[in-house]
Amino acid sequence: MLQDIAPSRYHVEYTDKQPDADSLCFAFRGREVLEARQDGGFVLPRWKELAPFASAVRYLFRIDEQDYFLADLRGEEIPPGYDWLDYREGQKQKPKAFHFAETTAYHLYVWYRDNRFCGRCGGKTEQDKTERMLRCPVCGNMIYPKIAPAVIVALTDGDRLLMTRYRGRPYKGYALIAGFNEVGETMEDTVRREIMEEVGLHCKDIRYCGSQPWGTESNLLLGYFAKLDGDAAIRLDRQELSEAEWLDREEIDIPADGYSLTNHMIQVFLRGEEP
Ligand SMILES: [Zn+2]
Repeated sequence: MLQDIAPSRYHVEYTDKQPDADSLCFAFRGREVLEARQDGGFVLPRWKELAPFASAVRYLFRIDEQDYFLADLRGEEIPPGYDWLDYREGQKQKPKAFHFAETTAYHLYVWYRDNRFCGRCGGKTEQDKTERMLRCPVCGNMIYPKIAPAVIVALTDGDRLLMTRYRGRPYKGYALIAGFNEVGETMEDTVRREIMEEVGLHCKDIRYCGSQPWGTESNLLLGYFAKLDGDAAIRLDRQELSEAEWLDREEIDIPADGYSLTNHMIQVFLRGEEP
């Protein structure tokens, strides 16, 4: 999956570190990232290139020996040779550790961007010195990164897997049942509710399969297998899904992509290795 970057290692522990001249820096503008195309790939600006245009910089994380920072730009001006590119562009051509770094940096960018002011009193928030947390110096409010848990569910009925397609989203491929955890629910409650809401089915024997940080939507995805309980007739939620159907193992022709939890779970099912 995307986060599986071994032998590289991701270190998220926060330290109050400043960039050196060669530190790599992310700068975002909405869904765009400041990068240069180079030798068929993409490169990030180094601090020495970005510093004259930056108004603030924050330590993000380290992968192996490489520190990554997040810079805010002062205005419209950007360093020569760089452009604003859709950060999802060419992701699968990027080295996996870089793709993962970019998605994770985007998650943190969104959180910092959306929490510049305290939601309790309106004060201007400040980065805490010891942990990744924003503190309001006026009222003492402490704001931690937003990570929204969501489930992905592989609902099976013997040798059949329930596959879906989402309505009105750019991703047209097959998906599995998915949805956000709601306040007051266990993850298992979310699994049962989403299956009922999206396809009108009951399930039993819910088993955890694995998880995936998904910075693009500030999610932590949790994957579960569940077995159909009772009637297999699908009652589709047409607001949410354009299609849902039971497919036999032999009918599913989806190659492993090594990126998404959904794909990982489909591969687990195809190998007959459900937990
Ligand atoms: Zn406050």
